[in-house]
Amino acid sequence: MRINTTAELIEQIKNGQFEKIAITTHHKPDGDAMGSTLGLWHILKSLGQNAQVITPTDYADFLSWLPGNNSVINFEERIDEATTYINGADLVFCLDFNRLSRINFLGEIIRNRKSQGTKLVMIDHHLEAEEFYNFCFYDTTASSTCELVFEFAKEYFGTQSISKDAVNCLYTGLMTDTGNFQHNNTKPHTHRIAAEMMELGAEHIQIHQRIYDVFTLNRTRLFGYCMYHKLEIIEDCHTALIYLSREELDQFQVVTGDTEGLVNFGLGIKGIVFSVLIIDRTERVKMSFRSKGKFAANEFAGNYFTGGGHFNAAGGQSEEPLERVVEKFRKELVKYKEQLKQIANEL
Ligand code: 5GP
Ligand code: MN
Repeated sequence: MRINTTAELIEQIKNGQFEKIAITTHHKPDGDAMGSTLGLWHILKSLGQNAQVITPTDYADFLSWLPGNNSVINFEERIDEATTYINGADLVFCLDFNRLSRINFLGEIIRNRKSQGTKLVMIDHHLEAEEFYNFCFYDTTASSTCELVFEFAKEYFGTQSISKDAVNCLYTGLMTDTGNFQHNNTKPHTHRIAAEMMELGAEHIQIHQRIYDVFTLNRTRLFGYCMYHKLEIIEDCHTALIYLSREELDQFQVVTGDTEGLVNFGLGIKGIVFSVLIIDRTERVKMSFRSKGKFAANEFAGNYFTGGGHFNAAGGQSEEPLERVVEKFRKELVKYKEQLKQIANEL
């Protein structure tokens, strides 16, 4: 099938010319990733399309209430089924990521599909996209991928394509990626979109409760342990640091999603400009960076820990042992002492 323009793509979708549509997102999907994929899934379903959400890995239990969750295929868990579906798909939506390396092995399958003629559509808001796609709806100023999916659906398929289930999914990502409308990606436009979503039936109170008020006792105790025993303030660098070993993760029976939000506590301390969480996951050491004001968390992550992300919220990783990573972090951090001090004075 030859498609040259976005208008043609939309026409082909509307006319049902794609037999199988796959929707995928990044490794360990968060609220925006699952909200946008399932939101789009509902929208495509309402248009009578045959679509399937495939995630590269599992995701947090606090996202399992999302309407459509039971239909999701986790690639790691059901590799044959996922591969068969993707290999038969003639259209693949790639949501909330912009580099195929962010979706592990699944990325190679998708790259291969493109060379066989499958069309790839990327919808994303992260910086520095790789041009792996045929079409993109890409805006780095958008609050979230959910915002982009909402606008995409509204513009091309009309608000009637956005059901209550769809809008509940999409509101979730708008809310989580903006940190409840408090991060610097929150614009007047974001609130307008939130208002439109509420008009279409988004249940904002329930969504908030289902995402945030569902801590397990283990997770609550993990947070308490981190606050009391692990949180370290590097005063001259206005930085908060928490690192967790595998033994500690085992002690609290940590599962996917349990450490989400933990890094924000450090940033909540008066005078702190930079907060870092370092976790010894089985496959590698994973880092989360959050900053206030003009401190570029994504640059720090990119410079030293093969990472990236947004200006004030980024991530990185390392293949080295936990102790070495922590040591390296402390060493590199010192270089920013003066800058961090200045930013702290401006807060
Ligand atoms: P989190 O700390 O919640 O895992 O990630 C925060 C942000 O940083 C996310 O928006 C994500 O896109 C980005 N991010 C996290 N890990 C990585 C990584 O390893 N590489 C890059 N380029 N970005 C990351
Ligand atoms: Mn996002």
